Amino acid sequence: MKQREDKSVLYEPRCPFCRELFDRPKEIDTELGSFLGGVCNCGAVYSFDPTGRNLGETFMEAISYACDQDWDLAMSLESGTDYEEIIINYDIRTHTVSPRRVNFLAMRRAQGRLFFVKLKRKNIKAID
Ligand SMILES: [Zn+2]
Repeated sequence: MKQREDKSVLYEPRCPFCRELFDRPKEIDTELGSFLGGVCNCGAVYSFDPTGRNLGETFMEAISYACDQDWDLAMSLESGTDYEEIIINYDIRTHTVSPRRVNFLAMRRAQGRLFFVKLKRKNIKAID
């Protein structure tokens, strides 16, 4: 079996969109409370779900934050057209990611996940 030269690279906490290292999720205050997440330099917003079982909620936190907490706007956006989302396995204690793909079978296990959302247009509010 072929092995990569440096396997540890696979575990580095890098943004799935721009491959830059991202910061450990921190508490972000919003109008509706707070969530654990952050913003990458490339504009991608990420939100942390410690169990991987509230991904719907985690997603809404990330997308609404990306939309300046405009929920109506966030709800009106379409995946693939207005934004892209990527879910990665993430261990907040060690601040590492798992290179394993997130699939539906693995989704059953409680595991930390990061939901990355990136708007396709920077000034999405200017659309309408
Ligand atoms: Zn990024």
